[in-house]
Amino acid sequence: NTALEQEDPAVFDLIQQEKWRQYTCLELIASENFTSQAVMEANGSALTNKYSEGLPGARYYGGNEYVDILENLCRERALAAFHLDPTKWGVNVQPYSGSTANFSAYTGILNPGDRIMGLDLPSGGHLTHGYATAKKKVSSSAIYFESLPYQVDMKTGYIDYDRLEENAKLFRPRLIICGASAYPQEWDYARLRAIADQHGAYLMADIAHISGLVAASEAANPFEYCDVVTTTTHKTLRGPRAGLIFFQRAPKGEKNSDLEEKINFAVFPSNQGGPHNNTIAAIAIALKQAASPEFKQYAIQVRKNAVAVAEHLKKRGYKLVTDGTVNHLVLWDLRPQGINGGKMEKICDEVNITINKNAVHGDVSAFTPGGIRLGLSPLTSRSVKEAEAVQVAEFLHEAVQIALRIQASTGKLMKDFLAALPTNPEVIALKAKVK
Ligand code: PLP
Repeated sequence: NTALEQEDPAVFDLIQQEKWRQYTCLELIASENFTSQAVMEANGSALTNKYSEGLPGARYYGGNEYVDILENLCRERALAAFHLDPTKWGVNVQPYSGSTANFSAYTGILNPGDRIMGLDLPSGGHLTHGYATAKKKVSSSAIYFESLPYQVDMKTGYIDYDRLEENAKLFRPRLIICGASAYPQEWDYARLRAIADQHGAYLMADIAHISGLVAASEAANPFEYCDVVTTTTHKTLRGPRAGLIFFQRAPKGEKNSDLEEKINFAVFPSNQGGPHNNTIAAIAIALKQAASPEFKQYAIQVRKNAVAVAEHLKKRGYKLVTDGTVNHLVLWDLRPQGINGGKMEKICDEVNITINKNAVHGDVSAFTPGGIRLGLSPLTSRSVKEAEAVQVAEFLHEAVQIALRIQASTGKLMKDFLAALPTNPEVIALKAKVK
């Protein structure tokens, strides 16, 4: 019996149940992955007991001799995993998550009220890239900064760079953010750099979703063009839940020479307190793994599996945003089938397939999105190859077909009963309302 089992059987049991769910369900959430046992061991280690506000060598607490070595090791591995020259790039490994990494990056390089442009949420962007609805500034990135999102082209689903450039001329942003939560295509970092330079703006890439692919050189390299790069560590990178902020370093007086100080200060003391040393140890392990030849093979397989799913769904006649994928995810537009993403998510939950509803461009409401997002990174960690990926796509197709068939039959059956009440005023009023 473990200590946890003895001390708290209720929590122990819930963890076992969740573990079993993870073992037995088809996990297709694009932002998730399965970390290694080593990562989990470090995450649950004695490091969780330690306070270490500050940076290695300059802490506000004693007893940090091992934590300092650990954080420096993590920083070295982060730069190595992304093939970065330590004289040109630095990294802060303390952010608790992707959201706090982004907000710290903004806090460091912007003033309150500065203008930012990020990909709109319904176009695949993330909340923290300045999301606001017509009625409400949702994300703190829209509350504390002026946000004008850019969109994908409504016909193709690809980023509309021409419109972004036109709008940037009017808006004159201080920061352009690239990166997404649901964009299956590559980014044109050179074009974005050129647009940012027209306005003396910073260019930041949030590579949360694709960082494993970037580390494995299976995606374009944002570091060639961006001033700042943020990422989560738990998606394709396959580490614990946390964030990283990479920033350019330069000699005093040159462009970006102040980024290191500004970003480190923004993380602590501006936005965070003590770093989670257990998580930093786990990130260090994941980064060592990400620099290995096995991880390169993993990243290649992730992309092959995503393509296999996309091609099979297309063969079955479905519509995919951008008509395919070059990364780890497939964005499936279910509007032609008349099933919204929420319904599909529920149907899949019942048959042990874990997916998430997702907005697709042109959706009227973010609350009833018309699509679903499928990510192949978790199943690839479970050694799934193209043949099984195709099988998974076929399961999804069957789920859609069965749901459509039963939906049509129940509709028809109940129509006959409704026909018996043609003049009932309540039925007439309701029919007009729901239509
Ligand atoms: N950035 C992007 C592009 C994301 O997709 C996400 C999460 O899904 C985040 C940031 C936020 O990460 P976290 O949930 O760790 O705060």
